[in-house]
Amino acid sequence: MIVAMQDSASDEQIQNVIEHLVRMGFSVHRTTGVRQTILAAVGARIDFDTRNLEVLPGVQEVHRISAPYKLAGRSFRPEGTILKFPNGLQIGGNEVIVMAGPCSVESREQLFTISEQIAKAGARVLRGGAFKPRSSPYAFQGLGLEALKLLREAGDKFRLLVISEVMEISQIEMMVPYVDLFQVGARNMQNFNLLRELGKVKTPVLLKRGISATLEELLLSAEYIMAGGNYNVILCERGIRTFETYTRNTMDISAIPIIKKLSHLPMTADPSHGTGRRDKVAPMARASLAAGADALLIEVHHDPDHALSDGAQSLFPDQFQELMNELRIIAPAVGRQIA
Ligand code: PEP
Ligand code: MN
Repeated sequence: MIVAMQDSASDEQIQNVIEHLVRMGFSVHRTTGVRQTILAAVGARIDFDTRNLEVLPGVQEVHRISAPYKLAGRSFRPEGTILKFPNGLQIGGNEVIVMAGPCSVESREQLFTISEQIAKAGARVLRGGAFKPRSSPYAFQGLGLEALKLLREAGDKFRLLVISEVMEISQIEMMVPYVDLFQVGARNMQNFNLLRELGKVKTPVLLKRGISATLEELLLSAEYIMAGGNYNVILCERGIRTFETYTRNTMDISAIPIIKKLSHLPMTADPSHGTGRRDKVAPMARASLAAGADALLIEVHHDPDHALSDGAQSLFPDQFQELMNELRIIAPAVGRQIA
C-alpha cells in the first residue's frame, strides 16, 4: 500500500500515520522528498480498509497494491483453472463451451423440443430456470421441482449437462441431485449467506455479475464461495446497468479480458441478458468469444413470442444453429475450439 502525504503535512502528522500503520501490522518504508513524503507499507491484513488512513490528518491519497481477494486472484493459480465434469467436458481449457436453453422451463414439450435442437446445434450444457427471480411478483415464477426433474431428464436424454439458478439456501439440497452446475443470478451476487452455503457443496457454481457490481465485487463474491471450500467457480458477465436505454443492459465485453487477467477462474459471457434483444445476441456472442470467453450462455426458445420469460432476447433454434456455425469459424482465429 502506498500512502502519499500532503505537501503541507507536518512531521507530527507523518509520524502519526506511521504509528497507525505499524499498529495495524505493516512494516513501513518512508521516502522523504523535497516537497512530499511517501509511505510504502507492506504486510497488510487482507481485509484492511484504506479509508481508515485516508481520513487521517495530512494524508493526500492511499493506494492499495495487493488485491483484496486471494483465492480468486490469478496469482493463486497462475496457470488457470479448468473445471472437469464426469462426462469429460472441461470448462476453462482450450475448448469453448456453449450453454443454451430457455430462460424458464415452461413444460415438458417446450423443454424437450428446445433441448433436442440445441444439442443438435452443438450446445453442451442445457440451461433453464426452475426458480425465477422476476422483477414483478405477478410474473411467472418458475415450475420449481417439476422443472428440475424435467431438466435432468432432458439433459440425460440429449447428453447435455444441466445448469439452473439457485435463489435461496433452502433450494440447494433439493437441486443437488438434478443439476451439474448452480447458477447464481445477478440479483443474488451479493447474497453472502447463499454464497457461503454454496461454498459447502462440491457442485460447480456459475456466478453472474450483479447489475451494478464492479469486477472487484464480483471477485470478492467468488471469494465467499471459495473460502468455504468450493473452488469450482465460473464467473459470468451478463451486462450491467448504465444510462443507455437502447439495450436492456450494457454488455461489458471488456470484463472478459480483465477477469482473465485478474483471476484464474473460467469466464463466461451471457449476451442474452447483456443486450435483451434477439438481434444483438449473435454479434455480442461473437465478440465475447473473440475477447476470450471460456463459455457462452445463450437463451433459445422454439416459440419465443409465447415464452413466459425473456422471449425478446431468446434466439430461434435456426438462429442459434447459425450462431454456432459462426462461432466455429471464429474460434480458431483466437486459438480456441468449440467443444
Ligand atoms: C437468467 O439467466 O435467466 C437470469 C435471470 O439471469 P440474470 O441473473 O443474469 O438476470
Ligand atoms: Mn432470462
